Amino acid sequence: MTASKFMNCASNPPANILTVDVEDWYHGISRYVEVPSPKSRLQYSLPIILDLLREYRAKATFFVLGEVAQNFPELVERIVAEGHEVGCHGFSHRHIEEIGAVAFDEEVRKATRLLEKICGSPMLSFRAPIFSITKSTFWGLKIIKKNGYIFDSSIFPTYHPFYGIPNEPCQPHAISFSDKKNNDLEDEIIEFPILTRRFLNTNIPVGGGAYLRFLGQLLLANSVINMNTKGWPATIYIHPWELDSFVPNVKFNPAIKFITFHNVGKTKRYLETLLRTFKFVSIRDFCRGDIT
Ligand SMILES: [Zn+2]
Repeated sequence: MTASKFMNCASNPPANILTVDVEDWYHGISRYVEVPSPKSRLQYSLPIILDLLREYRAKATFFVLGEVAQNFPELVERIVAEGHEVGCHGFSHRHIEEIGAVAFDEEVRKATRLLEKICGSPMLSFRAPIFSITKSTFWGLKIIKKNGYIFDSSIFPTYHPFYGIPNEPCQPHAISFSDKKNNDLEDEIIEFPILTRRFLNTNIPVGGGAYLRFLGQLLLANSVINMNTKGWPATIYIHPWELDSFVPNVKFNPAIKFITFHNVGKTKRYLETLLRTFKFVSIRDFCRGDIT
């Protein structure tokens, strides 16, 4: 896989990119509250997405957390068996600034080894937990590349207290680690930033997760069309726990709890609208031009 091959595909997008961060409901709130002995819902929630994708003949990249792969290898096997791409979401779902370079490298290596063993094929695509590649953690991309990854989707080109690089390009692009003018392709990683919408000179986050649950599917759909008219695919993301109507009985900051679980019961309908409207594929298949 080369950057030039990727650029050929991206100049005339026949499809958009759907990504799923495969983590449990308690990973999503782990920065705010520690849940003692949490009960997993993934065996219920992940099949909801897989069944929907099968129904609408869509494919996705599933960024699987190492912890999840360790506990539920059979779920990872089902993702592979249904023709989706398995990518890596790190191991423990901690922000990379919090754990630092050495621990991040160890976590990426451990999760990659585990996922490759279950899938029987090399990992190509990576997403850092909490989109935690920022200006101050840009070093993380080198670690991701060093561990064999060709594609990354960790950058949200917007502002958020925990993530985001507001001035990063919004379309898929190659990021170079070299200062040389004629960069070797080995020094590049292909970035698929999460979908944003330009408004009042600012990138508004719209590409999935809580933004989809608060803003609804129409703004997201309109933003996908806007991206496609410029000749680029849109990259959107979703979590299995967002399609589960389960709201945990755990006490923590009420405002954050509201934001985290708002409209979880409606997300399945929102996703169905998007799947009916657009063709979605995995990052791997998009870049291979393997889209039927
Ligand atoms: Zn995550």
